[in-house]
Amino acid sequence: EVTTLATLPALRSQRLGPKAALIVRDEPLSYDALERRSNQAAHALRREGIHPGARVAVLGRESLDSLVLLFGVAKARAVYVGLNWRLAPEELAYILEDSGAQLLFVDEESAALVPRVFEKMRGPLPVVRVGAPLSAPGAFAHWCEGAAPTPLDMAYDPEEVVVQLYTSGTTGRPKGVLLPHRSFLAISHALEAHGECWIGWTEASVSMLFVPTFHIGGLWWLVRGLALGSTQVVLRSFEPATILSSLARYRVTHTCMVPAMMQILLGEPGIHQADLSSLKAVVYGGAPISTALLEKGRRLLGCDFAQIYGMTETGNCAVCLRPEDHQNAPASRLRAAGRPFPGVQVRVLDEQGHEVPPGTIGQICLNSPARMAGYWHQPEETQKTLVGEWVMTGDAGYVDAEGFVYICDRVKDMIISAGENIYPAEIENVIRSHPEVADVAVIGVPDELWGEAVKALVVKQPGSTLRAGDILRHTRGALAEFKVPKSVEFTEGLPRNAAGKLLKGVLREPYWKGRE
Ligand code: ATP
Ligand code: MG
Repeated sequence: EVTTLATLPALRSQRLGPKAALIVRDEPLSYDALERRSNQAAHALRREGIHPGARVAVLGRESLDSLVLLFGVAKARAVYVGLNWRLAPEELAYILEDSGAQLLFVDEESAALVPRVFEKMRGPLPVVRVGAPLSAPGAFAHWCEGAAPTPLDMAYDPEEVVVQLYTSGTTGRPKGVLLPHRSFLAISHALEAHGECWIGWTEASVSMLFVPTFHIGGLWWLVRGLALGSTQVVLRSFEPATILSSLARYRVTHTCMVPAMMQILLGEPGIHQADLSSLKAVVYGGAPISTALLEKGRRLLGCDFAQIYGMTETGNCAVCLRPEDHQNAPASRLRAAGRPFPGVQVRVLDEQGHEVPPGTIGQICLNSPARMAGYWHQPEETQKTLVGEWVMTGDAGYVDAEGFVYICDRVKDMIISAGENIYPAEIENVIRSHPEVADVAVIGVPDELWGEAVKALVVKQPGSTLRAGDILRHTRGALAEFKVPKSVEFTEGLPRNAAGKLLKGVLREPYWKGRE
């Protein structure tokens, strides 16, 4: 049984040796080669002075080098810090300093960013290039040269922190989440122990990854595919045309995406001609999905769908709306995030910390064997979020009588208007179903009479002549009067973070300035 990332390549190569573990940018890497090359990387890290517990940062698109490094870092008992290359230099500098990284691996595309990042830091870090041709200075293969391909003489503990990932920074500064080996493997073990095949993903499957590995969703997916002994096709980033051609070329059976990606992929002109016949299941999650988008996805992709709800702090997967829950389900069921994965417990608490009965909205709390060890250097935040074995998610939601979990919205984004609790996501879902709406955000703005008033910020489809009255009429039929926006404003675009999530704080700021 695979219990650590450090031992995964060796255990799988014993059984599957020459089988392709990864195909990255059309270049295959066997399980054998993954074992050998990650051993070399680990020896090279040791040679460089990277000791157990040291932080090693990786910035760039997915490459064979960067994925080999994940296992090399694990084998050296160091901590892998995946960085989001879409972040600004200031944000990257913050994360590098916060993590205390001792070494930075960077790819060609992000290399230009590095001097601007170092400018914002106390001092530069040693840099090694990854994903570059062998001839490039500091290239990874050169850096590994002379290091032995044999295993290190080390013992590994599933409880030891192996990865430090930063949250998306949707509600504030990103937080460094400490993830032990079990965060990547516990749900897989629980699925197997319960004999649940989940989405029919097996050793014989071919999965595809274009969700970045600097977020927990992508990294978990990568490890799951390798732990199963399947072959995984990894794309360098989200490129809709490449996704469609690779799906057909490699006869991909399983893939995952966030709703923002699904929206773009379904709008890709080639989607109607694409050969999707190999596709068995698509997993989506990470942000609320609109009913309209889910319906369109099921229609156009024509395969099984499963939703995942979770967060960096829970090691991704906590709750899942399984394929069977999507089939012949009442429309209301498709608004659920799903039922817990085996081994995961869900509780809903009120503001006083008391458990509420089914159907009542409160804060969702999760107890998962994959939960984090804590936040890096933030004991107070850790104490607030990790209470015993329970992760306080900061998400508002409820559980129905059958055990399905529904996510309403972030507790922080809730609007209180005339004493009613209003969850913007519900209103956004209705407005988004209007064919002439391209994007929407709902926020609370100060109001003398109501305390807060519901405001909708709407981006129109190109060429649309939509007016505020149309939006109001559209919502009035579908929602209680107190949820209908008091004002509608049209805008050219909405601020989203690098994970594609709406930055509600930025939207609220001009209205609340000097008031809170
Ligand atoms: P930060 O914690 O820095 O504000 P973040 O919470 O967006 O950022 P992540 O850990 O990447 O960082 O995201 C987890 C959050 O994403 C959850 O708390 C939840 O709000 C949202 N989320 C994840 N999956 C779903 C889902 N299936 N449906 C609705 N929301 C989801
Ligand atoms: Mg969060």
